[in-house]
Amino acid sequence: MFSFLSNFFQKNFISTWAPLPLSACRITKPYLLERAGILDGTAVMIAVPYFTEACTDPARNLSAYAVSKNYHAYFDFLFNELMPLLKERFPDRKFACFADHSPIAEVEAAARAGLGCIGENHLLITEKYASYVFLGSLITDESLPAEIHPIRHCEGCGLCQKACPMTECGVCLSALTQKKGALSAEETEILLRHGSVWGCDICQEVCPHTKRALQSRSIFSTIPYFSEDSITHLTLEILDGMSEETFLERAFSWRGRETVRRNLLLLNRKGDTQC
Ligand code: SF4
Ligand code: SF4
Repeated sequence: MFSFLSNFFQKNFISTWAPLPLSACRITKPYLLERAGILDGTAVMIAVPYFTEACTDPARNLSAYAVSKNYHAYFDFLFNELMPLLKERFPDRKFACFADHSPIAEVEAAARAGLGCIGENHLLITEKYASYVFLGSLITDESLPAEIHPIRHCEGCGLCQKACPMTECGVCLSALTQKKGALSAEETEILLRHGSVWGCDICQEVCPHTKRALQSRSIFSTIPYFSEDSITHLTLEILDGMSEETFLERAFSWRGRETVRRNLLLLNRKGDTQC
């Protein structure tokens, strides 16, 4: 099964993955494992790189993860291809795939599997792609050869904490851009100061691991999905021109069109005032 997975991931341009015994994972949602009928076995941890050339656009006003189409759709596509192949090849084994809504603590498990270290920004930092990865897991009742690594932490340079706007105002800018309804005067001021329509990458951008990965160009994803239909600078015209179907394909759609629209209107108003 290991070599089967190795071939599959290679064909799909995924190089950062590793198995970890399920017993070494911290189980946070046991009911998901019960539902899959898996009590023991292996969690194959997968780090999917998503940073593309488009993310280097200086005019970008979206978090890098939202430049491409929705990553949930990517995982659906990947797992819908993988699962039938596994079931056909290993009919006696059980499998379940997860991304985000996972039965295990994914960042911790990925670090234990040896995919990278955990940053002070709480993200997994891989050597090639820094923290610009989406984590997913394939869980099986098969015992795959696996190494358990001690959890490594980043060097703790503190640059992410220093640069974080949350330290000054107690609100994560990323969460703020996703907040529904009207923003308070203070929240509006923070949004305008940072100019982000969706998300915040500050704690990733200042990290020396990101700088190294950019310098060596290892950061760039070679997965075609993440380079298709990129939007780097979202405008009201682009948003209003999107059909509901196209809008739902984007990562910034999950809080509804009005939340994104509100941010764009506030930022446009600021532009008008400055002129
Ligand atoms: S995403 Fe932005 S606001 Fe949130 S913790 Fe990171 S730097 Fe701070
Ligand atoms: S900026 Fe420094 S402290 Fe923050 S995650 Fe990167 S290496 Fe760690």
